[in-house]
Amino acid sequence: MLDLSTVRPASAAAFERAKAVIPGGVNSPARAFGGVGGSPLFISRADGPFLYDLDGNRYLDFIGSWGPMILGHCHPKVVDATIAALKNGSSYGAPCELETQLAELVIEAVPSVEMVRFVSSGTEATMSAIRLARGATGRDRIVKFAGCYHGHVDSLLVSAGSSALTLGVPNSPGVPAGCTRDTSVLRYNDVAALAELFAAQGDQIAGVILEPVVGNMGLVPPTAEFRAELRRLTRQHGALLIYDEVMTGFRLGYGGAQELLGDAPDLTCFGKIIGGGYPVGAYGGRADVMRKVMPAGPVFQAGTLSGNPVAMAAGIATLTELKTNPPYARLEAQSARIGVGLLEAAKHARVPVQFNRVGSMWTLFFTDTPVTDLDTAKTSDVKRFGRFFWEMMDRGVYLPCSQFEAAFTCGAMTDEHVEQTIAAAGESLQALA
Ligand code: PLP
Repeated sequence: MLDLSTVRPASAAAFERAKAVIPGGVNSPARAFGGVGGSPLFISRADGPFLYDLDGNRYLDFIGSWGPMILGHCHPKVVDATIAALKNGSSYGAPCELETQLAELVIEAVPSVEMVRFVSSGTEATMSAIRLARGATGRDRIVKFAGCYHGHVDSLLVSAGSSALTLGVPNSPGVPAGCTRDTSVLRYNDVAALAELFAAQGDQIAGVILEPVVGNMGLVPPTAEFRAELRRLTRQHGALLIYDEVMTGFRLGYGGAQELLGDAPDLTCFGKIIGGGYPVGAYGGRADVMRKVMPAGPVFQAGTLSGNPVAMAAGIATLTELKTNPPYARLEAQSARIGVGLLEAAKHARVPVQFNRVGSMWTLFFTDTPVTDLDTAKTSDVKRFGRFFWEMMDRGVYLPCSQFEAAFTCGAMTDEHVEQTIAAAGESLQALA
């Protein structure tokens, strides 16, 4: 393992200082590099496709703040809109037209969303969507899938049970068993388990929540059969189908994963891109269900900074840019090229890998087993991934610091950056062989 203290001394020192006052030195666990060892970069600034660390190193950024920065960092139109909004005051605690404007943009982009409510994070979006599903159906049970992450909501912090119908077990201390008693966890893409659960408990299920394309066990796409059965069974049993598009919304297409796949869930959760790099989440969907949210209806949900004008302005500028100058075709071509390049390099280096990709989200798994769910994702050689990660870092490419996270290509990357990434991967994979 690389001795970071000699290579990136300013970051290493900053991490030590932070650890004295912030648990683990970070404000979100993935940032601590637990999945790859070593200590994290401390970032001094970001621009376009690049991050700069405290030691003055520059990296091509394939994390993009874990998804939001689809246009790259400091996109001039987003910066200008944000500064203009800031000069009008940073928070009102009263309605403003920017909220309606962003809501109209979201609704226009995603046909299944007829009304939308803004919150301040993806976690709040999923938490509120689940409350709404329960309030609207009068049922308690929520179904989720092993390996899908929906934020740190108590009832969704659940690991898979040993059989499809086992009750969820909390996977963090501090989550009472009672909070997850009404959560069922199934294997992603497992149609038989889904059918079995609905046959046994269909009349108790309020909603099924999933990442329609998973980023949080590394990139895993859904099968067509799985999606079709989800829609059919939820409709048949009066449960709500909830797509968590916090990562995929406005990423896999302007209309998100559901546009790409041709799906129509009942509720959709958003985050990341809709805030243009500021803290925004949202949940929306069928008007008859959304009208149950207070004050239109009885299901309580609120937020001091919800619909914050600066964050709304950043979101409007981001969505407007994505709508008027769509980067999706170029992101698709560049990400496909990365896939071809990485697979060729791995073959050349005789390193067994799987490359999973949908649009600009992708993962190189270090396994010879096709990855379709959490169990197959876990066949990856995470030590090898960790070495690859650091080899890439030394070549100026900043990848997600876990085998079980998706990388994001961003609109500020050029074809030259793509070729540099492939060349760096070729050298890195050779170094592992
Ligand atoms: N849902 C998905 C699919 C996510 O990827 C995330 C975060 O990565 C969340 C929800 C939670 O969002 P936040 O971190 O903004 O609370």
